[in-house]
Amino acid sequence: MRDVVVIGGGLSGLAAAYELEKRGVPYTLIEVKSRLGGSIESVESNGFIFDSAPMCHAVDDPAFFEAYLAELGLKDAVFINNDGLLVFHRGTQVLIDALKAKITAPIMFRMAVSTLGMLDAERFAICMENGLLLDAKALIVAAPARYAERMFYTLVPEIAFRLLDYRYDNIVRVSLGYSHTNTLPLEYGHDTPIVDLRVARRMPKDSLTVQAALRIEEAEQPFDVVGELAALMGWGLNPAADHIARWNESDPIMWRQSDHVENMHRIQALLPMGVALIGSDYIPTNKPPHIDERIRQGLQAAQALVI
Ligand SMILES: Cc1cc2nc3c(=O)[nH]c(=O)nc-3n(C[C@H](O)[C@H](O)[C@H](O)COP(=O)(O)OP(=O)(O)OC[C@H]3O[C@@H](n4cnc5c(N)ncnc54)[C@H](O)[C@@H]3O)c2cc1C
Repeated sequence: MRDVVVIGGGLSGLAAAYELEKRGVPYTLIEVKSRLGGSIESVESNGFIFDSAPMCHAVDDPAFFEAYLAELGLKDAVFINNDGLLVFHRGTQVLIDALKAKITAPIMFRMAVSTLGMLDAERFAICMENGLLLDAKALIVAAPARYAERMFYTLVPEIAFRLLDYRYDNIVRVSLGYSHTNTLPLEYGHDTPIVDLRVARRMPKDSLTVQAALRIEEAEQPFDVVGELAALMGWGLNPAADHIARWNESDPIMWRQSDHVENMHRIQALLPMGVALIGSDYIPTNKPPHIDERIRQGLQAAQALVI
């Protein structure tokens, strides 16, 4: 029997796994994709580093996050941009890579957990979509609500029910790289599809990366996002590099609901002993979750299971 199974290899699951690692607790990490990081992914194009999802991070507790980065050897990997947000010089992926490097436990890639249950009073059952069944003394579920909902259906139906209506938006992240640092107009009207716009001066030296988030319906055909966005904003039409990442049903909007905090507290109270549910979808606040809060969640879940 495994001691702990961590489900989901995004930032929250990796933070939990690293904490278990440090405490010498045997565990197995299960990740449905062939890569770790979840919605954190950085790519390089024509010398530019682009983040497919988050590029600029708000930090709740700078002292904690600074110490955590130092522990991972990432003290000099970040800078603060003009908006006071934290940016990784070489993309947020370096944080995932540093955590991954700390993991010595087995990682089961391309394995989708479908349902969770109890085998007896002390053992949880973890069922995979391919029919494989694992058992464990404790579980850390670090998958988004849209997947966790199905997992809890047998274990705690009320949790499944409470996650059933968890809603997300479709987001297209467009990143443009310019080989100069001219100030670009950053005002945008509410009649545009842009919901978020960020700028960072990072790789390559003396260049500018602009990242916009556009809310686009899933059914909508891809259009010339780069051209239209550049034209809309009055930017140069010829960026030196561009990157488009489409995130269907993945930008959580439930934290804006007035009952979100109460619902998350209720879910935490319903969790059986030995089960933790972590990840940015479950942070009980009505503001967008900060990067260090996801890490702290993972860390605390691992600590609680060990005590
Ligand atoms: C488009 C977009 C833009 C964002 N922009 C920002 C931003 O500007 N600033 C910011 O701070 N944050 C931003 N975020 C949020 C941030 O990326 C996430 O909150 C954070 O990375 C979530 O980490 P997580 O570990 O909780 O979940 P995830 O990263 O979603 O990781 C969950 C993992 O679980 C795995 N999984 C799912 N189902 C199963 C299953 N059945 N079995 C096994 N594994 C499973 C997934 O494959 C994934 O690897 C953005 C997110 C998106 C999608």
